[in-house]
Amino acid sequence: MKYEFKAEVKQVLDIVINSLYTDKEIFVRELVSNASDASGKLRFLKLSGKEIVDPDAELKIEVGCDDKAGTVWVEDFGVGMTENELMENLGTIAHSGSKAFLEALKESKGELGERLIGQFGVGFYSVFMVADKVEVQTRSYDPSAKALQWTCDGSAEFEISPSDRVQRGTKIILHLKKDYLEFADKYRLRSILDKYSIFVEYPLYLNGEKLETMQPVWLKSKADVKPDEYEAFYKFREHTSEAPLDWIHFSADAPIALNALIYIPPVNGERLGFGKVKCDVGLYCKKVLIDAHPENLLPDWMRFAKGVVDSADLPLNISRESMQDSALVAKIGRIVVKKFVRHMSELAKKDAEKFSKVMKLFGSFIKEGAAMDFEHRDALMKLLRFESSSLEKGKETSFEEYVSRMKDGQKSIFYAFGADRESIESAPYLEAFKARGIEVLFLYEPIDSFVLSNLGEFDGKKFEAIDSADIELPEAPAAQGESMPDDDIKSLCEWIKAKLGSDRVESVSTGARLTESPAAALNADPINPSMRRIMKIMNPDADLPKPKVKFEINPRSDVIKNLNELRGKDENLAELVLEQLFDDSLLSAGLLENPQSMAGRINKILARVKS
Ligand code: ADP
Ligand code: MG
Repeated sequence: MKYEFKAEVKQVLDIVINSLYTDKEIFVRELVSNASDASGKLRFLKLSGKEIVDPDAELKIEVGCDDKAGTVWVEDFGVGMTENELMENLGTIAHSGSKAFLEALKESKGELGERLIGQFGVGFYSVFMVADKVEVQTRSYDPSAKALQWTCDGSAEFEISPSDRVQRGTKIILHLKKDYLEFADKYRLRSILDKYSIFVEYPLYLNGEKLETMQPVWLKSKADVKPDEYEAFYKFREHTSEAPLDWIHFSADAPIALNALIYIPPVNGERLGFGKVKCDVGLYCKKVLIDAHPENLLPDWMRFAKGVVDSADLPLNISRESMQDSALVAKIGRIVVKKFVRHMSELAKKDAEKFSKVMKLFGSFIKEGAAMDFEHRDALMKLLRFESSSLEKGKETSFEEYVSRMKDGQKSIFYAFGADRESIESAPYLEAFKARGIEVLFLYEPIDSFVLSNLGEFDGKKFEAIDSADIELPEAPAAQGESMPDDDIKSLCEWIKAKLGSDRVESVSTGARLTESPAAALNADPINPSMRRIMKIMNPDADLPKPKVKFEINPRSDVIKNLNELRGKDENLAELVLEQLFDDSLLSAGLLENPQSMAGRINKILARVKS
């Protein structure tokens, strides 16, 4: 029977054949990895007591080539495929990620090809880079299924017909294009297998000869593994040529027997546009993969980590379903998280550069953990780093270090939120803190202020935004110029409030915080500036309610004094100046919706200034 590929498969085939890889040899790795997956699935089925064809057949992987015929094949004795599975797995992209794959690929313009292939499971189609005809002979483990042959020449169709295969498992035969006959050479193939496949967990043969493979890295003792081997194992697992950023390898005997190898990858998959990634730390029991993406093992925020957790204490015949609510699995996860956090805090001390690299890539996950994972909150908070007013640009501080520098009598940890350092430093809020020598943390990412307001406090010190009106500050060290008389202040505030109107200002008052700037907008209501920014990012066209602020003026400022005089002489011009002043303070607060209106007004004001 002939079948048409689904449209998305055609698209993927087209990309794979025409543009994706420069590295054609990786099709070997993809096939061996699929053979290994199929063997792993069978091993698992066997343990769960299913009825299986050929229950005693050895799980091994046989690679072969025939340079005269120009063919290469990879054979396994794993789960095999039924007719439905052939249609599903090789005829569609059976993964929900397929759409995301195509989109991510378009955006990356091909450069991420290799990485995307592994991530989205289009690995099988890589065979069509080098072959113009591919046969898949397969027999499912299911005793009721028949042996089948799937054939395709890389065009829009494939064919499924009966096969005379007797053994359980799958053999994939590639008829090489004439430009790629090199892959039917035994020595060439051997070097590819040595490079990519030495970590497979099953005996591996090439034309009948057994190749040397490695013992699982995670079960070795730490002292016996060199960095090269850790890196090679990562590359093998992730189908990548990029080395990991870092790794944590540990074992324990009590209370739970455990071997774990956790990698911190060199890229943030979610930032590449893959969407939310799944937990990618596989759960094993004595080398047997139980679940490649266990949901209950690690907290959600650790989903960026990759690796292996192997516990001999897990019941081998545990089903994936019952594992999801297994307390043992959660307990194992907790041990892993603890190790990870401890590793990170040691890294911060021992290798600040690497630590900051990790935080640059995955800091948002750590922040998410600090905000959402109550159990690990305290430990995770200690990993967070921010720039601050006391440090030069690019240098960062922890909360602990900040607290150690706090002034006598300072009760809170102060922070400012802005797009970048310059905009925080040019806004009026910082002045009061500068004048008093109080350090302020600088937050640049929308998630930061969410996290801090969620955390509430560190070490008993409240987090406070510097644009909040409720902040109590000690007296400024020296009076900053002479203040206006109290009566004038009172009447000016009333005038301003009347002119701006109660839908724009909640109150108008003076305060001790301003030293240089004439005015500042505080406590935006109902949506504060950082929230407003997040909402704008999520929906740029959103019609957000107009902000209402507490307007604070500086009675020592010449601008304010002049404004007070001007309203007696030329109220009309005074109103224009006030509007300008108000917009200016909204702009600094990140609240001005329409800055163009300021330019027009400036011209009006200038036209009326008489010399
Ligand atoms: P992935 O391995 O990431 O799932 P592939 O494109 O490599 O994606 O393979 C697609 C699917 O085809 C696999 O998920 C699997 O279901 C099936 N498959 C591929 N090779 C084999 C094999 N040797 N034995 C059984 N099933 C296989
Ligand atoms: Mg695969």
